[in-house]
Amino acid sequence: MAIDFTLTDAQRRLRDDAREFATQVLAPVVRQADEEPDPLRAFQLTRPAYVEAYKQGIAFCMLPGEYGGGGLSNVDVLIAGEELCAVDPGFACTVLVNGLGLMPVWYWGSDEQKDRFLRAATSDPACEYLVGYAVSEPAGSPGGTANFDAPLAHPVGIGVTARRDGDEYVLNGRKFWPCNVAGWDGRGADVSIVIARTDTGKGGTEGLSAFMLERGTPGVEYRLISKIGHRLAPNAEIVFTDARVPAANLVEGTRGNGDLLINRNFAWSGPVAGIAAVGVARSAYEAALDFARTYTAGGPRPIIHYQNVGYVLGDVAARIEMCRYFCWKAAHYLDRHDYHGELIGAMCKIQCTELLFDAVYKCMQVVGVNSVDRTRPFEKLLREAAVLPLYDAGNFGMQRRRVHGILAHPGFDPRALADDEFVAFDKTMETIDTVPA
Ligand SMILES: Cc1cc2nc3c(=O)[nH]c(=O)nc-3n(C[C@H](O)[C@H](O)[C@H](O)COP(=O)(O)OP(=O)(O)OC[C@H]3O[C@@H](n4cnc5c(N)ncnc54)[C@H](O)[C@@H]3O)c2cc1C
Repeated sequence: MAIDFTLTDAQRRLRDDAREFATQVLAPVVRQADEEPDPLRAFQLTRPAYVEAYKQGIAFCMLPGEYGGGGLSNVDVLIAGEELCAVDPGFACTVLVNGLGLMPVWYWGSDEQKDRFLRAATSDPACEYLVGYAVSEPAGSPGGTANFDAPLAHPVGIGVTARRDGDEYVLNGRKFWPCNVAGWDGRGADVSIVIARTDTGKGGTEGLSAFMLERGTPGVEYRLISKIGHRLAPNAEIVFTDARVPAANLVEGTRGNGDLLINRNFAWSGPVAGIAAVGVARSAYEAALDFARTYTAGGPRPIIHYQNVGYVLGDVAARIEMCRYFCWKAAHYLDRHDYHGELIGAMCKIQCTELLFDAVYKCMQVVGVNSVDRTRPFEKLLREAAVLPLYDAGNFGMQRRRVHGILAHPGFDPRALADDEFVAFDKTMETIDTVPA
């Protein structure tokens, strides 16, 4: 049977183990960390849970087994990920970013780089190893991230520069938003992948490469950012002032192709963001259903017996099912096509995060005014759901543009996804919609 949604015994165990971790280890720290005003302190409160996640193989579950990773398929990452996201998508975001930082080394690194960076991540005796992924840059003119591929001269687009000097590259400029990069103490993750312009004579998609920035590199400063949601995940500004990185840390196959890394990474994470929306909406739906089954609102029977309540919750439940299966399909596509999903990953992320943001609010309408009481879960769930369409390459400025760029290509086959055919993505599909008409 080619299409079968039944989980294998191993997948059921994976789901159950992830659920147990999420409810027994993660859940007890969520409220305090979410309410902690200092973003670094909030992240530090998650440290014991992270150490346990590391020990259980969750923190690097997406890396290949041959380098000590969990060796999970993309589908299996989602099965486990939904359970974490139902409890806290910010914590899950930290794990996701470990993948965004190291998957490119697996795709494009030399054997020596794979050995050095992947094995270090999976063999930390302290079980605290953390990896950052630094693409995004500060808002401003020029600035932001959505138009990183605008076909204009530097400093438009990615503004952080890396100038070759002997056996080193010298980095200058600022990043803003990258997750995990500041580490547990605000002084740097163990390692972060940084996209920088190695050729300032070029702009747009040209002359971008990826570097592995190691903790302790002089000339790098971090400042934590306080956010409305995903408060358990640490985002930071990075300032590079003549920071020297060994030339051997330029990820071999990304030389001049940092743009393709950005698009491949943000597409790989599409179904992960989608399943985060599923997890968050699932929690809102279950809380709303529970409320509707017990609350009478002064009437003779619980409000679930009113037609509008039943219809709305039925629609919400259906959307959650739809989105879960779209995420599984997108992950399955990534598994079958060498972790390329530039089209389906974007489509999945856009639809799931937007449909399910609305679903969370619908749950609040069913519950009514009591949903805004902060002793109930909805306020936090709404904040978390609001982040999902905006982060991980915004649905407006980045993900929809990638879909547009592929659809506009003369060679695009509109049946490719249905037929499970490989949809190629190359530089000719970038830059679309970057220069306003
Ligand atoms: C929890 C969290 C985790 C994150 N983790 C990371 C991380 O690990 N690494 C990292 O690098 N970043 C990270 N980010 C940042 C994230 O990936 C953002 O999606 C990214 O910075 C792009 O933001 P943006 O799309 O709003 O871009 P901006 O450049 O700020 O664009 C803002 C808006 O302008 C409009 N716009 C801009 N250009 C266009 C266009 N060409 N066409 C149409 N509209 C346009 C859109 O409305 C867009 O939403 C994280 C953010 C959060 C909140």
